[in-house]
Amino acid sequence: MIYNAPVKDMVFLIDEWIGIDRVTSLPGYEDMDRETLEFILEEAGKFCSSELLPINRQGDEHGATLVEGVVKAPPGFKQAYQAYTEGGWTGIDADPQYGGQGLPKLVQFQVDEMLSSCNLAFKLYSELSHGAYHAILANASKELCDRYVPNMVAGTWSGSMCLTEPHCGTDLGLLTTRAIPVGEGSYKISGTKIFITSGDHDLAENIIHLVLARLDGAPSGPHGISLFLVPRSLVNEDGSLGERNGVSTGSIEHKMGIRGSATCVLNFDDAIGYLVGEENRGLSAMFTMMNIERITVGVQGLGFAEIAHQNALNYANERLQGKAPGERPDPGKTADPIIFHPEIRRQLMKIRCQVEGARALAVFAGFHADVAARATDSELSERANDTLALLTPVIKSYLSDLGMSSTLSAQQVFGGHGYISEHGMEQLVRDCRITLIYEGTNEIQAIDLVTRKLTMKGGDLIKGFLSYWERFLETEGKTDSLAACLDPTRAAFQRLSEATGWIRNELQTDQARAMGAATDYQRLFALTTVACLWTHIIQSIADKQGALYDSKRKTARFFMDHVLPETAALHRVVTQGGASLADFDDEDFHTG
Ligand SMILES: Cc1cc2nc3c(=O)[nH]c(=O)nc-3n(C[C@H](O)[C@H](O)[C@H](O)COP(=O)(O)OP(=O)(O)OC[C@H]3O[C@@H](n4cnc5c(N)ncnc54)[C@H](O)[C@@H]3O)c2cc1C
Repeated sequence: MIYNAPVKDMVFLIDEWIGIDRVTSLPGYEDMDRETLEFILEEAGKFCSSELLPINRQGDEHGATLVEGVVKAPPGFKQAYQAYTEGGWTGIDADPQYGGQGLPKLVQFQVDEMLSSCNLAFKLYSELSHGAYHAILANASKELCDRYVPNMVAGTWSGSMCLTEPHCGTDLGLLTTRAIPVGEGSYKISGTKIFITSGDHDLAENIIHLVLARLDGAPSGPHGISLFLVPRSLVNEDGSLGERNGVSTGSIEHKMGIRGSATCVLNFDDAIGYLVGEENRGLSAMFTMMNIERITVGVQGLGFAEIAHQNALNYANERLQGKAPGERPDPGKTADPIIFHPEIRRQLMKIRCQVEGARALAVFAGFHADVAARATDSELSERANDTLALLTPVIKSYLSDLGMSSTLSAQQVFGGHGYISEHGMEQLVRDCRITLIYEGTNEIQAIDLVTRKLTMKGGDLIKGFLSYWERFLETEGKTDSLAACLDPTRAAFQRLSEATGWIRNELQTDQARAMGAATDYQRLFALTTVACLWTHIIQSIADKQGALYDSKRKTARFFMDHVLPETAALHRVVTQGGASLADFDDEDFHTG
């Protein structure tokens, strides 16, 4: 496998499109400039390609193991984890007060993409620490923050997110893990959690589990759930590790992909835990973690699409099969590289135009996350937060779907050589598959978008978002390349506006019909948003000449011609597909 971190594109998007001065104008980010950004991203890219990519296959082949109750990460992961923590990569966007680097989330998302490209299984050992860090900081007492956060930022301790139980995955209101108060702010936690990523391993000295549990007498359903911090080993007053807590690993899962990541069944037997936030408000506290994780999972999909494209492009330049149509590159040869076949070019460009558009979406989200967290103007911060809330399910699902379609498409470019394991393409397909499932399946994201985000603040979020882009699309198409983007984007935007009106109307009259259209609506939303971003990019470089800008203009046009037309079909399915689904009765879905 090869991997070259797409630093050039990342820097272009952050510095030339978003504008690095808009990032540095936020308090705490004053020191960031193009050179620093470039340096950090180059270093991250080097680390990922030299340390993490080489151990990705052995992680898959060897997997995580459970021997006599001890979970071991695959060979090579321990050394890489040590280098990773020593490099400070576990605390990129973390608060310097707790030992973090204090860099923008925008930067964190770029590094997340690189890590996901090179070795998602490895990344997962620290990814949940990052989410747990944010949840603890936003919701826990200062005492808990001071005691647990610095080691989590340093990576000497890692984190986990314990929601899922055997009988409850999507519907967390069903969970039964119990918490009993034992005084002095402590609780005894008992129950079984399954599918816990990095629930146990030998890379960090301690693991800080964030566990959802129900206090005795709490209301049933989602409003009776509280959040607890449960360390694998108890922590003494002086910060040293004490005795082992009542948490044990029942088993680890054997699974389709990310085999190097330990997915654990955890048994909590009177384990000591500490309340994070308020009693019965655990789900909303956990959402601090889940919202960040959802965008990060989307970025994982983007990382897969990027590395899949790079390797397929590389292979297509080397593999000789058939004669290219038209003028051949080397008529003396019996066969040409397959990159000269238009079908291969189409497949590769279809991945690339979507990857670059998706990265723009991730950068857009990262910038809004930074503005939401740091802007001193509260109105600006609230608007950024609203945009982020609206886009979170879209990013999670669209980018992970893109990872899946791109790894499959890139595998196809390898023919049978993609199906066998030699080139690593089948591992990419297997590893990427989980991104559509965890952190709430993509279908649940669609339902979140339609039923929660479209109705939030009386519909103000979506109205604000649409009116922003409507105003932008009134831009005059002064250059041919801008006009080539504006017309199709306006048409897609019209479809999205109509479909949004339709969905909002159905939510009032026939909720089942609105929910039946949610996944198609979500895709229509994503494709149209990416088209708006592409158009915005092309407008921002209208006066610029050079290879990078020409390439952006051609790629944007390709997206408009080859991807965006799907919005016409989606609009039709959303607004007219409900009746044929409603034709079926309950009996039509019985088995046997
Ligand atoms: C490798 C791996 C790692 C994981 N890591 C973690 C972790 O670290 N921590 C953790 O807590 N969990 C983790 N999970 C669990 C993961 O988040 C859940 O598997 C996921 O949320 C789906 O839950 P489920 O598997 O129980 O499926 P179910 O909830 O049973 O869903 C089954 C199907 O029904 C659909 N569905 C369910 N409800 C609805 C609805 N209301 N409307 C429409 N469709 C619906 C779903 O989309 C899905 O297609 C992990 C899972 C895996 C496989």
